[in-house]
Amino acid sequence: MTGFDLTFDLSGLTNTSTVETSPGDEISRNLIIIGSGPAGLSAAIYAGRAQRQPLVLAGQAFGGQAALTSGVENYPGFQEGIGGMTLTEQMAEQAKKFGAELAYEDVTEFNGSVYPFIVKTLGATYGPRAVIVCTGAFPRRLEIPGESKFFGRGVSTCATCDGYFYKDRRVAVVGGGDSALDEAIYLTRFAQEVIIIHRRDKLRAGAILQERAFANPKIRFVWSTTVQEVLGDRVVTGVRLQNVQSGEATDLTCDGVFIYAGLIPNTQLFQGQLELNPDGYIVTDKRQHTNIAGIFAAGDVQDPLFRQIIVAAGSGAAAAIEAERFLAEKDYEGPSTE
Ligand code: NAP
Repeated sequence: MTGFDLTFDLSGLTNTSTVETSPGDEISRNLIIIGSGPAGLSAAIYAGRAQRQPLVLAGQAFGGQAALTSGVENYPGFQEGIGGMTLTEQMAEQAKKFGAELAYEDVTEFNGSVYPFIVKTLGATYGPRAVIVCTGAFPRRLEIPGESKFFGRGVSTCATCDGYFYKDRRVAVVGGGDSALDEAIYLTRFAQEVIIIHRRDKLRAGAILQERAFANPKIRFVWSTTVQEVLGDRVVTGVRLQNVQSGEATDLTCDGVFIYAGLIPNTQLFQGQLELNPDGYIVTDKRQHTNIAGIFAAGDVQDPLFRQIIVAAGSGAAAAIEAERFLAEKDYEGPSTE
């Protein structure tokens, strides 16, 4: 959480107002975009073209979850598909062409209760007149014994990053959604066998991915089964499984475990300031406004429903258009007299 003392009570979050402050040591900016996935980069393209010189605080994880996706086949305009990293790199170059700046800084503190807002990183304190939050979501962990111990030593949430290390090996993939199937199919390029372990007997993934996974001779399914423990000594040697119907426990030998159990929104910095839904997603209206005027949100951080690159990009563009309207209104009002 942030180390800020909020200057007034934010308990009734709807229509929270802000206190106008005189500029301190903050670096003034028109617009700060927090996050560099497709939502943040699309917002940067639009805000750049509106000549607001947006600053994108890209964090350490440039490109977000999209950049970790091996191949994107459903983003319009790329008939043959495109790699997730290539797509996000091209978005960043496009944004820079229009005057956006990218800084690979993580936001450590955020204060939406003063105006200009305050956004701190380890290296700087900014005072932006508008903010677009595009912090995305991170992979859910299973919270089972061995998972943390062997993370990076056989346990992974990124087939694109780590798949290469499993040439001719046997790997397990946990989950039944699009990510699990997509990445399992990708892993068959390297691995000898890919075993998908799913807690139900029906997949959540879309029909095309299901069809491809069922047709892939290197993929095998273990249904109605949960992973109870990751086993190993120095590195992963297997997983302990439990059938949810019979309760029977078995050990499966494998060299790697790739976990795709869904995503958790990255909203820790904003708790107590921006309105969140019970699952932790930022609540926005149809125009990407949050409960604080001048703060917008776009992409997976406010989208529990679609979580697609094209939807994230679209919401980023919409947020930038609304941020531009907000800034234009502020320009017209002139400096605050409070
Ligand atoms: P998801 O759709 O939320 O699926 C998560 C999967 O993990 C589900 O099958 C779920 O089981 C399982 N799961 C959740 N918690 C678990 C636990 N504790 N133990 C075991 N299994 C657990 O997440 P996702 O697959 O990462 O996809 C996220 C979003 O990105 C989705 O909207 C998806 O459509 C999108 N996406 C799209 C593509 C594509 O279009 N090619 C590719 C990747 C992702 P249950 O089914 O039983 O709930």
